[in-house]
Amino acid sequence: MLYSGENTLCYAIPGKLVAIKGNIGVVDYFGEHRNVLIDTDAKVGEYVYAQGGVLISKVSKEEAEETLALWKEQFFALKKVDQKLSSVKKTGKESANTLAILQKVNVGKQLSKEDMLALLKLDNAAELKLVYDTANNLRQKRNDNACCVHGILEFSNYCKNNCHYCGIRKSSRIKRYRMTPDEIIAAAEHAVKELGFKAIVLQSGEDEWYDDERLARIVREIRAMGVLVFISIGVRSKETYKRLYDAGARAVLLRFETSNRKTFDALRPGTNLDERLELIKYAKKLGYILATGFIVGLPGETDEDLIDNILLTRSLGADMYSFGPLIPAEETPLEKQKPTTKEMLLKTIALTRFADPEAKILVTTAFETLDKDARREGLLAGANSLMLNITPVQFRKLYRIYPGRPDTDKKIEEGIKQTVELLYSLGRAPTDLGI
Ligand code: SAM
Ligand code: SF4
Repeated sequence: MLYSGENTLCYAIPGKLVAIKGNIGVVDYFGEHRNVLIDTDAKVGEYVYAQGGVLISKVSKEEAEETLALWKEQFFALKKVDQKLSSVKKTGKESANTLAILQKVNVGKQLSKEDMLALLKLDNAAELKLVYDTANNLRQKRNDNACCVHGILEFSNYCKNNCHYCGIRKSSRIKRYRMTPDEIIAAAEHAVKELGFKAIVLQSGEDEWYDDERLARIVREIRAMGVLVFISIGVRSKETYKRLYDAGARAVLLRFETSNRKTFDALRPGTNLDERLELIKYAKKLGYILATGFIVGLPGETDEDLIDNILLTRSLGADMYSFGPLIPAEETPLEKQKPTTKEMLLKTIALTRFADPEAKILVTTAFETLDKDARREGLLAGANSLMLNITPVQFRKLYRIYPGRPDTDKKIEEGIKQTVELLYSLGRAPTDLGI
């Protein structure tokens, strides 16, 4: 059964704040505890909503108890489904080396680069299944069945950059759009009030039409709706990031794209890897929840590069890993590049889980473009977070960073319904993963 509140499907359930130490709180979900950053004036004993590891709003006792009463039975039923789906069975066809590497994972040891390379080279279906199942089992043991669901609002496809992979790069001859601040706020309000979202990701090309003043107003008004505001606006000044933090943004999505300097320089003319990394570190230092990562399958990428990308994401202190396959976009210099295989993507998820067992690993929208089952398979290979597109349909078609983006004609509600069904079929619950 899908739980639906009055008008909204539910992808966040309230919990009770049971302890506070400094700016960290402990939230209880039916006995399961998660640490969160406190960003509201809640007191111990009050009911709250947390998203992406941030305590974002309080909820009245009556409303929380009503929601929790509806949820209780389903909460434990979902856990059972997840436990069943995350068990590991060997087939006897696995090599001794693969079994030895996975045994290290099972006993909590870190894998060496050599171990990771050996797993990346696997091509036998039985062994790969064991790798994915082991990663999924680790996810279940460390994070239980919690799954974050955030809404992404793509508010402008103008960009001053010319990244070789991106369909909205400056020289693309596409129809451009900019949502006005009022349109952005209204779209976010619809997502929050009508669709029940508790976290809004504001994404755009690097578009300086949105000056600090405009961005700060958008962030402030959306934060006032009692939700987590994520920004994904590319490289802007440190002052802009500070100003938006002060306005209430608490999470940043900014990928470094590749740790390979040569590839970065070749594919992102006029931009600089060090500058991007410095901004990512600065955002983390300011206190933002950090989502960062890379593109899988850029030209010339070696297995070593892929491992370096995972390890760099970890060393940046990512709270959430965001990576996705390269999808060659028309009329870009990478138009003829081979698309990334689903297998490579699933291996990346599993290796990321092994490298950082507590991680939030995002199944990005590009997964769906790759293959209609990729989201499900990603969630079964160690991933535990999702983003859903909440951009109004008339603009969504124009945000063509790559072709074949799913749901460009579908109403937002339909996409949500399918996602919630997918999550429940896998036994995942919308409790916050904490920090
Ligand atoms: N302009 C901001 C930036 O670059 O950080 C945010 C918007 S940008 C479209 C978001 C992400 O899209 C980038 O970080 C990049 O990894 C991804 N992207 C762009 N083109 C892509 C493609 N053809 N295939 C896969 N991912 C792509
Ligand atoms: Fe612009 Fe981001 Fe696309 Fe690069 S990836 S062209 S910065 S929108």
